[in-house]
Amino acid sequence: MLKKENKTDVIVVGAGPAGIACAVTIARAGRNVVLIERGMFPGAKNMFGGAIYTNSVKDIFPNFESDAPLERRNIEHNFAILGESDSTTITYRKNDNTSYSVIRGKFDRWMAEEARKAGVYVVTETVVRKVIKEGKRVVGVSTELEDYYADIVILADGVNSLLAHQIGLRKDIETKDVALSVKEVIKLDKDTINQRFGLKDDEGAIVEIFGGSMLGMLGLGFLYTNNDSVTIGLGITLNELVENNYKPFEILEKLKQHPSISHLIEGGTLKEYSAHLIPEGGYKKVPKLVDNGVMIVGDAAMLVNNLHWEGTNLAIVSGKLAGQTAVESLNTGDYSKKFLKKYEKDIKESFVMKDLHTYRNLMDIAHQRKKAFFSYYFKKINAFFDMFTSVDGTPKKENYHKFIKSIFTDRKLTELFKDAWAIIRLLWSILI
Ligand SMILES: Cc1cc2nc3c(=O)[nH]c(=O)nc-3n(C[C@H](O)[C@H](O)[C@H](O)COP(=O)(O)OP(=O)(O)OC[C@H]3O[C@@H](n4cnc5c(N)ncnc54)[C@H](O)[C@@H]3O)c2cc1C
Repeated sequence: MLKKENKTDVIVVGAGPAGIACAVTIARAGRNVVLIERGMFPGAKNMFGGAIYTNSVKDIFPNFESDAPLERRNIEHNFAILGESDSTTITYRKNDNTSYSVIRGKFDRWMAEEARKAGVYVVTETVVRKVIKEGKRVVGVSTELEDYYADIVILADGVNSLLAHQIGLRKDIETKDVALSVKEVIKLDKDTINQRFGLKDDEGAIVEIFGGSMLGMLGLGFLYTNNDSVTIGLGITLNELVENNYKPFEILEKLKQHPSISHLIEGGTLKEYSAHLIPEGGYKKVPKLVDNGVMIVGDAAMLVNNLHWEGTNLAIVSGKLAGQTAVESLNTGDYSKKFLKKYEKDIKESFVMKDLHTYRNLMDIAHQRKKAFFSYYFKKINAFFDMFTSVDGTPKKENYHKFIKSIFTDRKLTELFKDAWAIIRLLWSILI
């Protein structure tokens, strides 16, 4: 028998995008839901790059484009490959509203306020320490102050998810399956940002950064424009940082000094510094998502598509699907693992698992061939443009021959074959 004190229909742990989307879905179906967050307010502890994606947020909050605290509408994506002091950048510009830059401290807080209006009981400054089980079933959670009981508990407590680990749904995270990310928010006035990035007031730009100070490690840098600040950071797989004994903020410092980056942040003042882990394991590392009386969503379930920098949308969709299953489970009074597996089935049929499945071999291949793809070929791309743009009296044909010859002298033929084979394997698994 469940204890009656403090009992509610559903407890959701963690007020990030996954937990909020989940709690709202349940409250809108007329059920009681308590959302427990450790931060002083939702978003206080959260950081990301970052961009939120319109279609997933709009699905939960149709009014968000007019009401939410958004920074800029991202109209430009830059892909910058950095060399020692040179760089090659591809720019894609499209005037649409696919994504917005946001500051999580403001945005998560706004979403949680909307959740409150929808009937969610939001508890802040409360850390959930333990999941309570009766027999084989999860029946509640323990906080520092008291125990809360519910028919269903949903864990949306982010990448570390100590709670999912406690009940055996998650194993220890391997250091190669997470990236350690550090970022700075640098204050700059709006006009300077507009001028430097060629933007109008509500328009934003994203720069995805490869190579440079990341020294061939498996990692990427990023830069996002906010209203009156710029976010710059990077994420590198934790095993590489540990093996090489690199300090991520030193790498970030070097990145900021690169001539292709420094002018974008010049004159700015540091407003905020933060660090966070990103799940990088992909499809093969997604754990079992349900057990009796419990489901896991968002980063806690390792649902991140790292190639596309998508995490909040996967979190929101998984939260919504788990919320829907919770409502059906409450309606039938069946809280068993067997019933809750409907959430696993729904998520498999959604773009979330389909996309993770598409890239199921990406990280294995990236780990195997990182020296090639995160160092050698980046150098070669910059070397090509160096050759192509040089004007020194050398006949062009000679330059081309020299460049082609260097491909075969700088890298062994067997390695080039292995690289080509890796690309074929990767494309095969993505497209077929
Ligand atoms: C550097 C970086 C850049 C990123 N860039 C992007 C991007 O541009 N676009 C994108 O879509 N995604 C991006 N992501 C990924 C995205 O941030 C995550 O996928 C997303 O935030 C996951 O949402 P979530 O709700 O599952 O977890 P979180 O947002 O981590 O929320 C978990 C919540 O649970 C709370 N919590 C944890 N433990 C407890 C506990 N025991 N008790 C109570 N509360 C608890 C935390 O305080 C937090 O509020 C980025 C991530 C990083 C780190």
